[in-house]
Amino acid sequence: MLKETADILMTNAPVFVYIFVFLYGIVFGSFLNVCIYRLPVGESIVKVNSHCMTCGKRLHWYELIPLFSWIFLRGRCHGCHSKISVQYPLIEAANGLLFVLCLAVKGLTLDMLLCQALMSALLVLSVIDARTKEISNGINIFIAVIGLMRAVVTIIPIIKSGGSVLDVVLGPVVVSGVLLLILIISGGGAIGGGDVKLMAAAGLFLGLKCTLLALVIGCIAGSVIHVALMKIRHLGRELAMGPYLSLGIAVAALWGSEITAWYLHILTGA
Ligand SMILES: [Zn+2]
Repeated sequence: MLKETADILMTNAPVFVYIFVFLYGIVFGSFLNVCIYRLPVGESIVKVNSHCMTCGKRLHWYELIPLFSWIFLRGRCHGCHSKISVQYPLIEAANGLLFVLCLAVKGLTLDMLLCQALMSALLVLSVIDARTKEISNGINIFIAVIGLMRAVVTIIPIIKSGGSVLDVVLGPVVVSGVLLLILIISGGGAIGGGDVKLMAAAGLFLGLKCTLLALVIGCIAGSVIHVALMKIRHLGRELAMGPYLSLGIAVAALWGSEITAWYLHILTGA
């Protein structure tokens, strides 16, 4: 899988395409920062009015260049010299790298664009969920919309060739249906409503097999990392599942078909 990724990387896209994709990745990343701060408090994400959080000074154009401004200003406001959160450049860099990863895995395709949109949504969702333990409906609806687009793109050639569409059709209902049952039985103690909606939206994007894979990866990562965090940072038992499910969804979107094919190959020996 790694070798295939490296091959596509070497042959499919010249270096300048990678640089261009990284740059638009960090530009989108700075918009994601706006979403991360404004969505939980219900502020508009379209209204552009960038100012220092401490002194209120309006920012010049050279203070608004994603990633680079923070580095050149050494993480401080030009006006009042108060610290600017390291979260800004981290989110921008993370989004840039995720966009490049999507290019490396998918090549210059429509699927690359859909995966990039998915990665950005998962990044915002994870940071907000880790902080507030809430997954906003807006992000789940966004994932459902791009998921529906991907389901349509996937299902058309299957129908034309007379294949089975079960995986695509069952994707959004099976995993989320089981989680919904757990939610009802546990009275909300085991899982949140936002997680159920997230897996339904992700199911549209991934299809059934890859949604199962995403859930398995999310649960394993969640239990391992959270137990470690409980020990190291003395976190409570309460667990925000969003970031872990997001990790599973991201891995399943990029490499899900290869991983599930490999697993079925081992199971059946076929
Ligand atoms: Zn300031």
